[in-house]
Amino acid sequence: MSAVIDAIETKKAGGELSDNLIQGVVEGHTAGEVPDYQMASLLMAIFIRGMSYGETLALTRAMAESGKTYSFPECVDKHSTGGVGDKVSLTALPIVAACGAPVAKLSGRGLGATGGTIDKLESIPGFSSHLSEERFRDQVAEVGIAIIEAGDLAPADREIYALRDTTGTVDSLPLIGSSIVSKKVATGAGHLLYDVKRGSGAFMKTTEEARELADLLVSLSEDLGIDARALITDMDNPLGSAIGNALEVHESVLLLKNEPVPEDLASEVRHVSTRLLQLKGIADPELTVENALASGAAYEKFREFISAQGGDAEALEDLPVSAVVSEVKSPRGGYVARFGASAIGRAALALGAGRKQKGDRIDPASGVEILVKPGDPLQQDQPIARLHGERETEQAEQLVLEALEISDEPVEPPPAILDSR
Ligand code: URA
Repeated sequence: MSAVIDAIETKKAGGELSDNLIQGVVEGHTAGEVPDYQMASLLMAIFIRGMSYGETLALTRAMAESGKTYSFPECVDKHSTGGVGDKVSLTALPIVAACGAPVAKLSGRGLGATGGTIDKLESIPGFSSHLSEERFRDQVAEVGIAIIEAGDLAPADREIYALRDTTGTVDSLPLIGSSIVSKKVATGAGHLLYDVKRGSGAFMKTTEEARELADLLVSLSEDLGIDARALITDMDNPLGSAIGNALEVHESVLLLKNEPVPEDLASEVRHVSTRLLQLKGIADPELTVENALASGAAYEKFREFISAQGGDAEALEDLPVSAVVSEVKSPRGGYVARFGASAIGRAALALGAGRKQKGDRIDPASGVEILVKPGDPLQQDQPIARLHGERETEQAEQLVLEALEISDEPVEPPPAILDSR
């Protein structure tokens, strides 16, 4: 019997896969020897039967070792499970680099309603996310921060993820956990903070599900040699007010210049930066973060990083955003109860800020600026959002109106950080 048939039969019967069997199947699939239909059948058996922790660890290791691996034991990294308006990597990472914690990051592009750090950075004229390995290492050593596209990392995960996406097997805890951690192990940063989002704009809809994923991510990472912790953060509402690539860079620049930004974004970025410095063992982390922001060191580090990767740091203050702008107004008065992240993300997508399918061309100048946050009082006809972009504006307006939940009673804004592991 071939390894993959053995694995399918074992899983189908509720048995446990050995480490060798898992490794053989992953290697065979990556090499093109195990056809997609057999791998899809195994994934469905795993989806239905689940996986023990030992099996999940073996799968993670096999996927991590399926391609090129890097090693940056002295570096810190963070990973978000994906959200709407999530510009924490763009801001917290230059802050910690300015505080003496080096960052070597491999990032992805957005797909669907959740954005990706590489798309955001590429809205800066000249910025390149493709550096040779040597230049990547040199920049980490000299500038203290480099971010490139995670192209050839964990190829087994790339193949398996594409299959999961088309066979209804994405939302399985062991498959999500092994997928995320395999890429982090291949990236090789020694200290890692996971930001597990929960809410309407996230994979995990409840705090309980998010905790389960956070604990799995931390355990797998620790067992594979990474010093890891996790936060659970809110993604019922978009983070900050900008959603869309150039708009998000603009809001990040404000934060890094220590200028006012929405409180949810300001507090989450400070919390993540502080936790990363703690992981690296840097003393007085909160004060160190505040000093980096107040002295201008954090923004200077961001400019240095952008210039080192070919970006025009002078353009940062005034990135082009779409000249086609319209406002959406509140249908009635009251208080903002929720501005649903999922529908706002889809509105930005309709305007061109994201890809409906892999390979679609994005419009970096498009997106949504939300003008009210949960808890804010509202008047009828008050502007609630500004839409930038010329694609599907009517659909975007409809989605923004659908996203807004209005309460007649005053509303307490939700905390940005829900739990910490
Ligand atoms: N992100 C990943 O990288 N993999 C998953 O399976 C889900 C989210």
